[in-house]
Amino acid sequence: MAVEFPQDFREAVRSQTEIVALIGEAVALQPRAGGREYVGLCCFHDDRNPSMVVYPERQTFRCWSCNTGGDSFTFVMEREKVGFREALEILAKRAGLPIPKSVSGRTSDEEMNRARVFEVLQWAENIFHKTLMDSDQAEPARRYLYDRGFDDELIREFRLGFHPNDWNFILNQSGGRYSSKLLREARLVGERDDGSHYDYFVNRVLFSIRNERGQPVAFGGRILPGSTDKSKYFNSPESIVFHKSRLLYGIDKAREAIRKEDVVLVTEGYTDCIACHQHGVKHTVATLGTALTDAHVTALKRYTRKVVLVFDGDAAGQNAALKAAARFLAQDVDLRILTLPNGADPADFLELNGGDALAKLVDNAPEAWEFSFQAARLRHGIDTIDGRSRILEDMLALLAQVPDMATNVKEGFLIANLAQRLGVSEQSVRDRIKEVRRTQHARPQQVIEEQPEDHEQDVKRLLRGQFSRDDRLECDLLEIMLAAPTAVPFVRRALSTDDNGESLEPHEAATVLRNPALRAVLEVFLELAAVRDVVNLPMVLDQLSEQRSLTRLVVWIDTRAREKRLDEKIHSLGVNPADGCPLLLQQSLANMKWRQEEQSQQNVAIQLSQQSDGPQGLDEATQELLRQAAEFHKQRANRRTGS
Ligand SMILES: [Zn+2]
Repeated sequence: MAVEFPQDFREAVRSQTEIVALIGEAVALQPRAGGREYVGLCCFHDDRNPSMVVYPERQTFRCWSCNTGGDSFTFVMEREKVGFREALEILAKRAGLPIPKSVSGRTSDEEMNRARVFEVLQWAENIFHKTLMDSDQAEPARRYLYDRGFDDELIREFRLGFHPNDWNFILNQSGGRYSSKLLREARLVGERDDGSHYDYFVNRVLFSIRNERGQPVAFGGRILPGSTDKSKYFNSPESIVFHKSRLLYGIDKAREAIRKEDVVLVTEGYTDCIACHQHGVKHTVATLGTALTDAHVTALKRYTRKVVLVFDGDAAGQNAALKAAARFLAQDVDLRILTLPNGADPADFLELNGGDALAKLVDNAPEAWEFSFQAARLRHGIDTIDGRSRILEDMLALLAQVPDMATNVKEGFLIANLAQRLGVSEQSVRDRIKEVRRTQHARPQQVIEEQPEDHEQDVKRLLRGQFSRDDRLECDLLEIMLAAPTAVPFVRRALSTDDNGESLEPHEAATVLRNPALRAVLEVFLELAAVRDVVNLPMVLDQLSEQRSLTRLVVWIDTRAREKRLDEKIHSLGVNPADGCPLLLQQSLANMKWRQEEQSQQNVAIQLSQQSDGPQGLDEATQELLRQAAEFHKQRANRRTGS
């Protein structure tokens, strides 16, 4: 969460940022409702009718079509595809506020260090690029690139470079400007046992690997033809700014096109990726010599849900494609597998057929499941019973090894699809997969990267307007809290002790709400109320800064509150003279308490029904339960006549 910069700095940036002006730089906004709202074409989906609304009073925005919403920070995070700290830096810079240098010792040192590493990598990229373009030593490298069909413009665009055959090139070029420690941290040089240094990328063509913001973070080096070096490609080792399981080559150049085309192509190599861009297929990125990871998919999901993996048409490519299909079956993406015809690699294919032909293949690329099915079908043949049962076994083994598949709604579709195509009953497929899972369970579990709970599905459902009576009651409470920031402490007092007067932690107190997403929002309110007398919208959004779904949810609830003019309603209904609690809030809290009471009453009923099975008479505990039940019915009767 947003803890790396001090609160007052975040607040200063927030107060210096006017959301209408900020969004107005990206979207043409028109005032509406006497300037209480501004509307424009949403920049997060393909918008034809203006559905982005900006609320200057609340300093929030919301798209009524794609539901993207939040505050100024959220807008920058969504638009620039950055995290909270980068958004904060961008907005601080825009507001002309100096970024605090000494935050809390270690963090700021780390931050300074990152900045220096970025600087030295940018310097190195320039040196490598200049060397490729101008140096006599780079002649073989230039020839290699021209032979591959790269021209100077492309070489410039991708900032390709060359490291000459000199083990001290970097240190000499630096001439003491950068310390050897810094050069090591940037992974430009390594250190020998005797303390001397050597360059990593000797006599190689260099591909500059950049992050989403276009900052170089690492290099990929390729040997020249005729070299005796065994490793054809060599990447910078990971560093404080480079994590290869997350980063995709070309993302800085591709992100706009990916958003526009709403699909991304993922190739296996730098040159394939560049070739795609060269032929106008600009929504293409490449993995950095690794298979696609969950972290890659998570990163890509921010731009598009349709991911097309492009593999060479050779046997190795087919194998890699099958593995990838299995890995991402449960992911919430539309994953397609494209293997190129006749064993071609993407560069060859494009050279022969052009970008339009590739685009056509992309359109027709099969889904991962279909691709796997067809591969199994080719392997075993579908015309015999034996072949069909082998296909079934292959596909079930695939399903069973996908993490989280058993709890995924997709599984039902896939099982039905399989049953239908193989002419067996769904039930038998279901029984069989249970068995396969049981036997697989004995094997060591795959390590799955832990994702924070993001409430995405719950939030989507609510924002689509699908809510239960419970959800509605719970939203009511949060709406009142957003409309009456000074009343939030009443909620804390009402909820933070249990029936026996024991105090409850915010996460325990928040369990009064049943919807997990709404509960998470209430918990944030209660945490803030523990240290503040007033809890308002900006504070809540600040706490939720890294949680997109909950940010959208809070803005949505706030919009509802304002549509209902809740602040006026709260004011006109007045307060409880005894403690000053707004009556509307008191009612809402009473609803929550009542619902809890109903629940515990149901528990009493269940216990009673279990007791009556026993042979013994009415023991003391049972009598107590009966007393509780009688009390409840009396309360309920009073409540009915009261309302
Ligand atoms: Zn939108």
